[in-house]
Amino acid sequence: MSAISSSHPPDVALQSALGELNVEFGAGHLCLDFANTADWHASAQPIELIPSYMHLLAWAQLREALATETIQSLADLATHHPADALDALARAIALREAIYGVFSARHRERSANPANLALINEELQHAFDHLHLNGGLLAWEWQETQESLDAPLWPIVQSMADLLTSSDVGRVRECAGDPCGWLFLDTSRNRSRRWCSMESCGNRAKARRHYERTRSMPPRG
Ligand SMILES: [Zn+2]
Repeated sequence: MSAISSSHPPDVALQSALGELNVEFGAGHLCLDFANTADWHASAQPIELIPSYMHLLAWAQLREALATETIQSLADLATHHPADALDALARAIALREAIYGVFSARHRERSANPANLALINEELQHAFDHLHLNGGLLAWEWQETQESLDAPLWPIVQSMADLLTSSDVGRVRECAGDPCGWLFLDTSRNRSRRWCSMESCGNRAKARRHYERTRSMPPRG
């Protein structure tokens, strides 16, 4: 795993990460979309979709979690400080696993792992150190984003805090497709959504049920 491709200028490395990124944004909340940056998350060997710091920036850009000029500055900073960028990436992945762990446990009606809660609390402290009320706009804004390689983590952890304090938290589900592990907010009226998407896991489960039904039918004739 490399933080960046050092032979390329930052904009080229970012562009190539943007082109490679294969993620979806349908979970209904920023922190859940971030939790879904690992495929087959509930399996023993999930597939990493954010393999480098530039992919983390690409994700933040496509998800509009940070301003484009902030992303550009961070790409430049990462090129000059590759070890620090790797540290920030490792923290982002650890945060993602903690978010997934907390919601996955909740979905299974288990208590959250204290290590996950401690990690989220720690990142919350880091993030909120940079949150500032802009009196003119009367809006919250992040400070020092352009010089902080961990800035992509802040809106994610803020989204987690928002979700946990909203009534929507009861609607967070984990996809029934085993071992998909994707999280989503169930906004269906009767709260009956089971799949991350009908096109992928829903259809796979339907095909498997069909296969099992036909296989278990007695032979004809
Ligand atoms: Zn799924």
